[in-house]
Amino acid sequence: MTTTPFTFTRAPTGETWPAKGHWQRVVMADGTITARISCHKCGYIGLLNHEIANDGRVTPSLKCPDKTCDLHLGPVTLAGWLRVN
Ligand SMILES: [Zn+2]
Repeated sequence: MTTTPFTFTRAPTGETWPAKGHWQRVVMADGTITARISCHKCGYIGLLNHEIANDGRVTPSLKCPDKTCDLHLGPVTLAGWLRVN
């Protein structure tokens, strides 16, 4: 399976839901910090249940959950992640 490298852009302040290719910081009820992202191809919005390194690198690779979308990304980076932790 081939994966495509991709860098998600931090959603600007005031963006309620992430636009295609954007990520937002999310704090879960148990205090876990993760990100909500939007597939830059189909716009599917979902929460990451991946490992996010301090530099924003996401592992493992990311497959869009939308059945009609064939996007498989890796390596994936969340740009600006360090600044919000
Ligand atoms: Zn998709």
